[in-house]
Amino acid sequence: MTDVRTAMIIGGGIAGPVTAIALRRAGIDATVYEAHHSRADGIGGALMLAPNGLAALRAIGAAATVERVGLPTPRMVMETGAGKRLGTFEDLPGVPTSRTFARPDLYAALLEVATAAGVRVEYGKRLAGFDSTADGVLARFADGTTAAADVLVGADGIRSTVRALLDPGAPQPRSVRLLGLGGWVDGSGLRGTGGAMHFAFGRRAFFGYQIEDDGRAGWFANLPSPEPVTAAQARLTPEAEWLRRLRAVYADDTLPALALLDRVPEGGLVNVGTMQDMPPVPVWHRGRAVLVGDAAHATSPSSGQGASLAIESAVELARCLRDLPLPQAFAAYEALRRHRVEKIIKRTARVNSDKAPGPVGRLVRDLTFPIAMRTFYRQERMMGWVHRHAIDWDAVVASPGHSPVAGHSPVAGHSPVERANR
Ligand SMILES: Cc1cc2nc3c(=O)[nH]c(=O)nc-3n(C[C@H](O)[C@H](O)[C@H](O)COP(=O)(O)OP(=O)(O)OC[C@H]3O[C@@H](n4cnc5c(N)ncnc54)[C@H](O)[C@@H]3O)c2cc1C
Repeated sequence: MTDVRTAMIIGGGIAGPVTAIALRRAGIDATVYEAHHSRADGIGGALMLAPNGLAALRAIGAAATVERVGLPTPRMVMETGAGKRLGTFEDLPGVPTSRTFARPDLYAALLEVATAAGVRVEYGKRLAGFDSTADGVLARFADGTTAAADVLVGADGIRSTVRALLDPGAPQPRSVRLLGLGGWVDGSGLRGTGGAMHFAFGRRAFFGYQIEDDGRAGWFANLPSPEPVTAAQARLTPEAEWLRRLRAVYADDTLPALALLDRVPEGGLVNVGTMQDMPPVPVWHRGRAVLVGDAAHATSPSSGQGASLAIESAVELARCLRDLPLPQAFAAYEALRRHRVEKIIKRTARVNSDKAPGPVGRLVRDLTFPIAMRTFYRQERMMGWVHRHAIDWDAVVASPGHSPVAGHSPVAGHSPVERANR
């Protein structure tokens, strides 16, 4: 049984609001403190939620509002820059359909569900430090204010302040040597992709796109970049120059890339610099503070799993806090999550290297990929353990040491193939 009544959640991105919604459902009062001064309205790139992320939202009754603002994306098409189809990956049967979001729409929908659930959200609250005692946590914000609660949840993203405060020796994010650019184009005039997200191995760089029936298109580009570049450094180069460089990169490909780049509205280019992931984070919790989402386990965007894993972890953390006292709750949460998220991060590192291979690597990839994707069994084997992950909200979490740790059902929703892969 929990001894936690109140939680303060640092970060109002994805993991923060979902943790707050789930905690409210668990009977724990939650307040979100976000560093930005307002909601992230306006421009933002495309982000895809996978079946497992949507299933985790459904487990806490938070999916309906979110799914309404996402574009169903039931299949992924892998192709070469010459337009040769390497394979199609359909969503596996029996799981929620993947959805693509404009990032600000997803954030807004999550905050809408959170506030409807009674969660308070305070903006302009950048965490600067905290003190954890036997009785509670006192947080200090950069604006000089403080707040207190029974626990503090660090949902403050890949450059987490909470992580550094928990463990000054914590590793830093590492560059995955790919620049991330992207955005949205309205009225592209291009033919819709019929609910498919296309992932194209262009001659010089990777390109992704999905075009809705009305011509609205989400796109992204991953350019090889041996040196790390921060978002701030990337933005020192004018948008027009980036668009010129992108056109040159995709000039020899037979893709809608050039048509989309020509239609990027002024101020419509999202540029995050070189993308990053996190090496294993040794300390996930200490005292009354705990990490969730990218703060604990950021995978490079190539996995298409960062947000979904953040949602899964948020829901599992709330279950643990509902059912167990501290410190067992945090230990059970880490036991439930660490192996899975680190396995996915490791696997994605391989995907990143596939995005910028040399000529021999390209040939091998183009020959082997269609074989790998050919049968349902292979797709199930490759993706089943990721996409079929199901959280049983009602299952009571056992204290670590009591095996099995209940809740991420070893039966419900897990195929035999998945069990073989675990
Ligand atoms: C280019 C790109 C494309 C991506 N595409 C996908 C995709 O298609 N699918 C997918 O699943 N994932 C994708 N990801 C990854 C995904 O965005 C992250 O995994 C996800 O946002 C993690 O959620 P989070 O809540 O942990 O962190 P964030 O969403 O980063 O939220 C952290 C929040 O904490 C706030 N904050 C930071 N510091 C403080 C502080 N000191 N005090 C208070 N607040 C603070 C920030 O302002 C922010 O609002 C992509 C990432 C990038 C960069």
